[in-house]
Order: sequence, then C-alpha cells, then structure tokens
Amino acid sequence: MSENNTLIKIEHLVKAFGDNTVLNDVSNHIDAGEKVVILGPSGSGKSTILRCMNLLEMPTSGKIFFDGQDITDPACDINKIRQHMGMVFQHFNLFPNMTVRKNITLAPLRTGLMTQEEADAEAEKLLRRVDLYDKADAYPASLSGGQKQRIAIVRALAMRPRLMLFDEPTSALDPEMVGEVLNVMKELADDGMTMAVVTHEMGFAREVADRVLFCADGIIMEEGTPDDIFNHPKAPRLQEFLSKVL
Ligand code: ADP
Ligand code: MG
Repeated sequence: MSENNTLIKIEHLVKAFGDNTVLNDVSNHIDAGEKVVILGPSGSGKSTILRCMNLLEMPTSGKIFFDGQDITDPACDINKIRQHMGMVFQHFNLFPNMTVRKNITLAPLRTGLMTQEEADAEAEKLLRRVDLYDKADAYPASLSGGQKQRIAIVRALAMRPRLMLFDEPTSALDPEMVGEVLNVMKELADDGMTMAVVTHEMGFAREVADRVLFCADGIIMEEGTPDDIFNHPKAPRLQEFLSKVL
C-alpha cells in the first residue's frame, strides 16, 4: 500500500525497562483502514508496542508518526493526538463510580469535542449499536464482563478515533462472553476502522486481520497475511507458538 495511506508508523523503536530491552529496533506501519493482529508469547512486548503507539510508554529511542506527525517530538501535544486513538484493555478500566452513560460521555465533554446534547445522543446511538441501551444508567459493577468490555469499546468510539488499539480485549472474559465482544470488533472492522489488536483468538485473526505480526525476542520476527502466518509459518519460534495455541 502507498506510503501516504499510512496512519501510524513505527521507526526503529527501542524500549527498555532498566536493563531489560523489551523491543529492540521494531519498525512497522499501519495503513488507514488496515486491521493488524499482533501475536506472540507472553512477555514478548505486544502490550509495549501498543502502548508506545499512543505514548502510554515513552520509547527509549526511535520515532512514532501518527498521520505523518512525529508524536515522539517533545513539541507535539500528545494529549491532542491521543484523542484520535482509542484503547481497549484486558481489564476494561471503566470508571466504577460513574454510570455507563457518564463513562461514555466524559471524554467527549471534557475535551470539548461535543456538547452535552451531542454526547448524550452519541452515547445512545453507540449503546443501541451494542444492544446495551437498557444499561445506560447502570453502574459498571452490575454488568457482566462481556457487557463491560462492549461498553469500554463504545466509550473509546465516542471520541470518534481514527485508530483503535485493543490489548487482549477478551482474555479476562468467561468463554461464553468472548463471542459478543469479538462480534462488536468484527462489526467495527467491517465499518472500516483502523485496528491494531493483540489477541490469542486465532479465529478472529484469521477472519479479520489484513496482516498478522508475530512478536518474539524483542522483534517482529515474522509478518504476513493470516494465510502466510497460520498455514506457512517460517520461523521455528512461530511454528512452536502455533503448535501450542492452535
Ligand atoms: P506482552 O504484552 O507480550 O505479554 P509486555 O509488553 O507486557 O509483553 O512486556 C514485555 C516485557 O516488558 C516483560 O518482560 C515485562 O515484564 C516488561 N515490562 C512491561 N512493562 C513494564 C514496566 N512498566 N516496567 C518494567 N518492565 C515492564
Ligand atoms: Mg500484554
């Protein structure tokens, strides 16, 4: 795909925690509309890559570009950039002391993106989309894990992000709730959202990913289409990984 279609670009990313170099010269990019799934063993740096994309983690060296802008430049207003990147975590991270509606409207209101009326209308639209409008006035504690995660997704969508980052969004869920969350993510993918998804759901990766990245030993060891990665893996580390998860 053409360079000027690139939404996020990672250039020579190095991330060390003390003397533990977790990412060692990672370069990649995600094009607008592309769905990228990131696989790899536990501790291989998958979360760190995602968190560097929105600077929740500061790269030790290397650059991250969002829509052509170097967001690792100290002059860049990262809070402004982060508004364009929604993130969904394994453990939902909903605000427990706020209703579902407030969880969703908070950021669009705080940032001035929407008026109260607009934010309420958007929250209603999003909640209907995930079949949870009846929970608008409920508190997170009263929801199932699957419901919480669907709310976390629409809360991120309320900011109308250009990129969605998912860090193992179904890993904390009981098995019977995984499907409802993956379905919301598939709909989002069908709608054309640009997505980077860390997941162990291989069915999702096969079905949704345009490109799969396999992380190991601090690098992206292999990348390709789902067919390349699942049916023709080259690196022995990837073959070993797949033999355990498939
Ligand atoms: P993954 O998501 O693939 O399981 P992570 O990106 O969470 O891997 O972590 C990669 C490595 O970085 C692990 O060794 C982890 O212990 C380490 N690490 C991650 N975050 C921190 C942190 N904030 N401080 C110190 N070490 C960290
Ligand atoms: Mg992780």
